[in-house]
Amino acid sequence: MDAINNKTVNERTLRQMEFKFQKLNLALEKIDESEFGNCRRCGNAIQEGRLMLIPENTLCIHCAS
Ligand SMILES: [Zn+2]
Repeated sequence: MDAINNKTVNERTLRQMEFKFQKLNLALEKIDESEFGNCRRCGNAIQEGRLMLIPENTLCIHCAS
């Protein structure tokens, strides 16, 4: 029973990791584009700390809030 529970937890974690990985890949694709690091709505630079925390972010802290 424990083994089944562990398997369920592992699969859920794996799916979450895959989802995160896809979003990171999207962010990586944008690095090649000139607008990476700039807010998609207002065009201002997104704070570096914010990008590090959420690399797939496309809005600055003002537009996201
Ligand atoms: Zn903005």
